[in-house]
Amino acid sequence: INPTMQFSNQFCSELTQVRRSFHALAEMSKVETKSAAKVIEELLKLSPTNIIANVGGTGIVAEFDSGVAGPKVLFRAELDALPIQEINTFAHRSCTDGVSHKCGHDGHLATVLGTAQIVAANRPKKGKVYLLFQPAEETGSGAQAMLDDPLFASVQPDYVFAYHNVPGYPLGQVILRKGAMNASVRSIIIKFFGKTSHAAEPECGISPALAIAQLLTTFDGLSNNTKTRKDFRVITPVHMNMGEVAYGVAAGYGELHLTIRTWTEEEMLSLIADMTKAIEETTAAHKLTYETEWVEIFVSCGNKDE
Ligand SMILES: [Zn+2]
Repeated sequence: INPTMQFSNQFCSELTQVRRSFHALAEMSKVETKSAAKVIEELLKLSPTNIIANVGGTGIVAEFDSGVAGPKVLFRAELDALPIQEINTFAHRSCTDGVSHKCGHDGHLATVLGTAQIVAANRPKKGKVYLLFQPAEETGSGAQAMLDDPLFASVQPDYVFAYHNVPGYPLGQVILRKGAMNASVRSIIIKFFGKTSHAAEPECGISPALAIAQLLTTFDGLSNNTKTRKDFRVITPVHMNMGEVAYGVAAGYGELHLTIRTWTEEEMLSLIADMTKAIEETTAAHKLTYETEWVEIFVSCGNKDE
């Protein structure tokens, strides 16, 4: 690769235009159809060996195949924006009401398309290069949807490269980390079912109040919010409600929403087991029944030492 050629002012300003056009398109997770069409339009100009579209929804994989055995390398970007109203007034502001690129995926799209241009101009002499554009990164479901799609079966990379912009560091600096780069995250909704009673006779009902209080304390004890620890685990309460604003009624129902983080999937499973045990024991002690639902599951993203 001739870096002087590849990173000319013209190359960079063209990529800026590409980024701005994605910025204006801003689409929510799972409905990134215009952005995907734009990606395909840009890729077609580069004559890749193959383009696989509609993978796991709106996902796309472009392949530059040397036809010779060798390492297969994949570069990834995301297609989706966030449900945030754009307040910027520049010409390329979001055209979608209530939706804008606040996570910078427009930039990731432009850089991976720039990578595609470099690959197209310097076709691999062995192995393959894949460029992947995934839907629904914000909801955590898009990557898995692509992996689960039979259309993805032929995509077998040996190495995967992805990046995310991080505010707060100097421009142009690349931050790398050994092992986990992003925590494993998931959230739980716990529903407590008891029995309402007259507020004058709480002993005749079954209130979730003490179980909720007890569980909040127990969960705090299960956390060690020390990010330098390999077994880092944190349980964060995010929402709770109980009963009604009716002063004559003792609560018979409650909900507790928490979100949990660990560095590794192994630690995540161990934390889930600990929480499940605590929920079972505490609800039993307070004669409540319960339901749990896990939502917004994001698997930990880590680097291989290699
Ligand atoms: Zn993002």
